[in-house]
Amino acid sequence: PVVLGIESSCDETGAGLVRDGRLLGHALASSMDEHARFGGVVPEIAARAHVHALTPVVRGALADAGLRAADIGAVAVTTGPGLSGALQVGLAGAKGLAYALGVPLYGVHHLAGHVAADTLEHGPLPDPCMVLIVSGGHTSLLLVRDLARDRIVHLGDTLDDAAGECFDKVARVFGLPYPGGPAIDRTAREGDPRAVPFPRPLTAGPPEKRFTFSFSGLKTAAARWAESHHAGGRPLPVADGAAALQEAVADVLTRKAVAACSEHGVGTLVVVGGVAANSRVRALAEKRCTAAGITLRVPPLRLCTDNGAIIAAVGDLLVRAGAEPAPLDVSIDPSAPLEYAALHPVTAG
Ligand code: ATP
Ligand code: MG
Ligand code: FE
Repeated sequence: PVVLGIESSCDETGAGLVRDGRLLGHALASSMDEHARFGGVVPEIAARAHVHALTPVVRGALADAGLRAADIGAVAVTTGPGLSGALQVGLAGAKGLAYALGVPLYGVHHLAGHVAADTLEHGPLPDPCMVLIVSGGHTSLLLVRDLARDRIVHLGDTLDDAAGECFDKVARVFGLPYPGGPAIDRTAREGDPRAVPFPRPLTAGPPEKRFTFSFSGLKTAAARWAESHHAGGRPLPVADGAAALQEAVADVLTRKAVAACSEHGVGTLVVVGGVAANSRVRALAEKRCTAAGITLRVPPLRLCTDNGAIIAAVGDLLVRAGAEPAPLDVSIDPSAPLEYAALHPVTAG
């Protein structure tokens, strides 16, 4: 069947249509510009924007695919994690559509969407593969056997900030525009990554923290470095700061991910999520994987950040795995655990 995927966990409203692992069409709206003057996503504004964007985006995806609503055979929707008001809008729309069309509904974990994104470009994930999820809210290493059947081992997480959050927060301190990750990436091109010796948190042991990340210390180090320039009345060499920060983040992420592959004897590393769009993360991952004999898979840039196609990709995997659909009174789960691709029915009342 054609699976419609709906995404509304943060500031992007996305719809995508997938059948048998192939992307048929998609459409995306973003309220990013409405949040820019606040320096971060305002939940209430995001939720309201989803209400306005949802129907046009679903229509847009159908038009892009040359399909009609009656062609939809299943609906998949992000049920968590994310902003509750934003998630509620997508889920309400998805339930309405599934009910009206008489098709099954699947509640999808947003991060499973980020993982499945790569399948739309590079085909089914090998069993096993190592997945590094690096996004605005998460930094995690997962050993994935079968995404749709929840054969996922969660190896490690960040203790504090996510990698994307670190980029976004440091960009603010550096006076770079919102959103910070892409701005750091652009600015870093003009800078020297060796200009500032930023720390590489949790890379020098203890062994039990080898797959654990921490980025708040790096954020503080970058802020102190900026303050020392301001206090001394010296202009801030922003490009050098951005390049050095990006190098530190890319170094830590790729070092730990490659070490996880080696330790678990896994031959494929998949890097997904918004920060997988970062040029230095991609380049260093490529270099280190090649050196270690590991196959690297990274989705194309447009599939790294939030959209509906990646949610449809999970729905398509679930349908083909014969997963149980969600009941129509299914609720959002803003803190769904990473080990589950689909929402494990939490019913209302
Ligand atoms: P989550 O998926 O954890 O719920 P999210 O959906 O907000 O969080 P994504 O959409 O996956 O996150 O990614 C957004 C993040 O990716 C932001 O932190 C953004 O700054 C970062 N990002 C996007 N492009 C780049 C880039 N080129 N370099 C670094 N970071 C980037
Ligand atoms: Mg976003
Ligand atoms: Fe995301």
